[in-house]
Amino acid sequence: MTVQPTAELTIDLGALVANYRLLQRHGKPARVGAGVKANSYGLGADRAAPALAKAGCKEFFVAVLSEAIALRPLIPDADIYVLSGPIGGDEPEFIEHRLIPVLNSLPQIETWSRWCDDDAPAPAAIHIDTGMSRLGLSPADLDHLIADPKALKLIPVQLLMSHLSVSEEVEHPENPGQLKRYKQAVDRLLPLLPARPILSFANSSGIFLGRDYAFDLVRTGAALYGLNPTPAAPNPMRQVVGLKARILQLRQIDAHQTVGYGAHRSTRATSLATLGLGYADGVFRALSHVGAAFVGGIRAPFVGRVSMDLITIDVGDVPAHLVQPGAWVEILGAHQSADDLAVLAGTNGYEVLTALGARYQRRYLPAG
Ligand SMILES: *Cc1c(COP(=O)(O)O)cnc(C)c1O
Repeated sequence: MTVQPTAELTIDLGALVANYRLLQRHGKPARVGAGVKANSYGLGADRAAPALAKAGCKEFFVAVLSEAIALRPLIPDADIYVLSGPIGGDEPEFIEHRLIPVLNSLPQIETWSRWCDDDAPAPAAIHIDTGMSRLGLSPADLDHLIADPKALKLIPVQLLMSHLSVSEEVEHPENPGQLKRYKQAVDRLLPLLPARPILSFANSSGIFLGRDYAFDLVRTGAALYGLNPTPAAPNPMRQVVGLKARILQLRQIDAHQTVGYGAHRSTRATSLATLGLGYADGVFRALSHVGAAFVGGIRAPFVGRVSMDLITIDVGDVPAHLVQPGAWVEILGAHQSADDLAVLAGTNGYEVLTALGARYQRRYLPAG
């Protein structure tokens, strides 16, 4: 049986590892940890995490426990941090799989302390909220903890972290503001801890805010996967993701002919090509009328609405020999990055990557 793919996603593990090394150079002397949550931003944590571990990465971050359990056998020697921490009742799973919870609240600290005893240390991370108001200890929580550190003192605190909210805007005053609040919290907590924990503050963009932001360990995601950590400047990262789709059918249309759902009217007589992918594959419906593919380097705009499984593009300006049924068309690649597509869709590159569908034929280029 031969199944011909209608769309193919290429994930370049060599580019991923090259990005890791580039972040190591920028982040020095901090170590570089990898955010592999949400299936490595949609690219496949089962392939990305082992490739990064082989390149020397020892610290990995996921959002939820199930992601960590799935990764444990693939990166047996790595430290795997679970950003949401225990929800309550799942503490034994952390211990069984040697996973490190990020404790975000006083109740989480209190509960975890009961799982710590002298013969079975159960390391944890503590998250201090310095401005996100999502997860982490609030300023009031921190005051309480310092006034009554009984539970804290039972826990081997391996890492003390916070998270930046606008690190991609280099000049934003929240950056130095959060940095100051993080340092103050660290200064108050360190005297209560028997051993100095790993300090971790910066995400991908945070590395590019300067050396003060790096501390001991940076937690990178977006830049590893090729998104631009410095949106105001050219992207220093290598592209990791390529996406191409096949032309399923071609047709000539007259001016004012209707195209797709909603009976969009063409503005010109032209050639249309129908591609075998759609919003079910993560090419957002918001890209209707504004998205584009590239054929032989020539822009071929989306015409009408993006459907669940199909997109029509205007190939009137593309040489005919490049637009045959079965020919490949670029959606993400040399001419259009995930960041570019995100701008057209009114979102960010993170959402473009994490939305990439499960239906693609996936091809992994080896890290070498
Ligand atoms: C996702 C995440 C990161 C990685 O952020 P990027 O911007 O993708 O580098 C770091 N820390 C925390 C807490 C996160 O949730």
